[in-house]
Amino acid sequence: MIISGKELSAKLKAEMAEQVALFPEKYGRVPHLVVILVGDNPASVSYVTGKAKACELVGLKNTTIRKPADISEAELLELIAGLNADAGVDGILVQLPLPKHIDEGRVIEAISREKDVDGFHPLNVAALWQKRECVLPCTPKGIIKLLKAAGVQIAGKRAVVIGRSNIVGLPVSKLLLDENATVTTAHSRTSDLPALTRQAEILVVAIGRPKFVTADMVSDGTVVIDVGVNRDPETGKLCGDVDFAGVESKASVITPVPGGVGPMTICCLMENTIECFLAKMKR
Ligand code: NAP
Repeated sequence: MIISGKELSAKLKAEMAEQVALFPEKYGRVPHLVVILVGDNPASVSYVTGKAKACELVGLKNTTIRKPADISEAELLELIAGLNADAGVDGILVQLPLPKHIDEGRVIEAISREKDVDGFHPLNVAALWQKRECVLPCTPKGIIKLLKAAGVQIAGKRAVVIGRSNIVGLPVSKLLLDENATVTTAHSRTSDLPALTRQAEILVVAIGRPKFVTADMVSDGTVVIDVGVNRDPETGKLCGDVDFAGVESKASVITPVPGGVGPMTICCLMENTIECFLAKMKR
């Protein structure tokens, strides 16, 4: 079974649009997401465009602020401080990566925790690891939604996550643990990775290497979630970290690239913006 993140996210976005349509009457306005794009990295431009389109679909107000790649860190921090103080802004997202002269950690930390729709602020990260209320990072949140929508039972399963980044590998490992899977987080220093991945009942791959996971690394019946977004060096087309053609026949459930985890990430960003807005309305 191929799980379409595209279909699931379209359904969820339609539900959110119905919810948001009631907000002007109930709260006097709709949630407002501000996205800051520094420079003109083509992948970042395309992600930001996708986010703006999703906002339109769901009925959220979206402002994209574009700044040149040579903006100083101080100027960027000042911009964020202004948005933090603006009561009409509910979510702030700074598209990563940032130019090398800017400290990403400092920028993420500067975003008000209440407006941190990416869930990257250290206070949100700490809350996630302490199982307290927080904004969940979009990609891991989307992965759990995909698994649940596909009817995958997570509790009690052996889950292997390849990748330990702050954005995907670590938080998705924690969310799987919270769903009572037994989780192993693998990385570039893991020895005999194929032996480990063959034991996985749920395999999440987030490494950023085209078609890295091949059929011999996967056992029959495994649930395979492919987070990778890469260019296939042979065809130049988008591809995941999993060799889809080889692995599909062995997996019980698999996500495609494109159309798998990616659309769920944007969908969860919409959800997080609405959550931040509603939390503010209740305060
Ligand atoms: P990252 O920060 O570069 O982390 C990559 C991780 O993979 C690291 O933990 C690294 O291990 C591990 N790794 C690299 N080579 C490996 C190998 N040969 N064997 C085992 N582990 C290996 O990347 P990321 O930000 O997590 O992103 C991963 C991929 O997901 C990228 O393709 C990215 O574009 C994609 N992505 C997609 C979405 C989406 O919405 N679809 C969202 C975010 C990211 P070490 O820690 O040991 O270096």
